[in-house]
Amino acid sequence: MNIHEYQGREILRRHGLPVPPGQVADSVDRAVAVAKELGVPVMVKAQVLTGGRGKAGGVKFCATIEDVRTHAKAILGMEIKGHTVRKVLVTPAADIAAEFYLGMLVDRRSGRVLVMASAEGGVEIEQVAREKPEAIVRYEVDPRYGLLDHQALGLGLRLCAGDLKKARQLGAALQKLYAAFVAADASLAEINPFIFTPAGEGLAIDAKVNLDDNALFRHADYEELRDREAEDPAERAAREADLSFVKLHGDVGCLVNGAGLAMATMDLVKYYGGQPANFLDIGGSSNPEKVVNALRIILADREVKAILFNIFGGITRCDDVARGIIQATNQLDIRVPIVVRLTGTNEDQARQLLAKTQLVPAATMDEAVQKAISLAAAAA
Ligand code: GDP
Ligand code: MG
Repeated sequence: MNIHEYQGREILRRHGLPVPPGQVADSVDRAVAVAKELGVPVMVKAQVLTGGRGKAGGVKFCATIEDVRTHAKAILGMEIKGHTVRKVLVTPAADIAAEFYLGMLVDRRSGRVLVMASAEGGVEIEQVAREKPEAIVRYEVDPRYGLLDHQALGLGLRLCAGDLKKARQLGAALQKLYAAFVAADASLAEINPFIFTPAGEGLAIDAKVNLDDNALFRHADYEELRDREAEDPAERAAREADLSFVKLHGDVGCLVNGAGLAMATMDLVKYYGGQPANFLDIGGSSNPEKVVNALRIILADREVKAILFNIFGGITRCDDVARGIIQATNQLDIRVPIVVRLTGTNEDQARQLLAKTQLVPAATMDEAVQKAISLAAAAA
């Protein structure tokens, strides 16, 4: 789950990181009121669930209240990488002498939290990572001990050799970020930039925190952090219908029971030269309502040119699923061909039911995938 900068800032603040004050506003008047309260100069910052806001013109320095009015007006309603800005954060503008990058993520290879940090922070960090990987300091944290004092100071000194005062601040910030990361069950946490003012004061002036969906049950308070308006509509509909769904950009819509079979189906689509439009696991039940919801979500994607049902009937009986599919297709306006492969318990009954419909049957997974790909290609 992605959260906004102002929400990420709050998590970091609670763990003792030096985060400047600020408030969100959803109108120009409100932004101006907050700026008057804080006193200029302030930054007006677009709150959208994507990075690169600065480069897109969504982060502006405002020397006067008039500037706040002008910039808030321009930024509210702006589109940044397909996300509409509905809120801005108004926060005191810091005087920047140096920008650092401080980040952590779960490294799947080592199964540990990987710290990544750089003295070349700021909006060009992706380019630094690509072209100058040696400018990024990496450190795997041993979960038994966390980030110990000497390790943190060592990292600080690698980032800022020769300036013990700054190195200490960077080390302390990394330890607090690690504590926040673990306590929040984050999958990613970044402060870019962590800055020093000309007077040498360290400040976290940006926050990107992703929360691990698998840990949401441990954090009842996270539900209110979820910005329903900013979520992808298809993914939201799927979550509300209790379906595991990830949108991709191919033209073969996939409806599969079981996450493993869904992955295998996507692999096979790729193997035969096609592109899956999504990952979708309808779970273990044959509940027609789930099939209807799943089909509706897939059909809403205009890129989808053919749909592939790949169902393995174990406890879930194939004839039940077939009835679900037929019922679903009767309720919806089906604009693309649907290939169905059902195998397992009661597959013969299922085949008889499907024989009376427009659905394209397939006996094996290979056949089903190849048919779906060629039907999609013919429709393109
Ligand atoms: P991002 O582009 O989405 O990562 O948004 P950031 O919050 O990181 O802001 C982008 C850039 O705007 C930063 O790298 C800074 O250079 C600049 N910026 C952000 N906040 C301030 C501030 O308080 N003062 C100054 N002078 N510049 C800022
Ligand atoms: Mg940033």
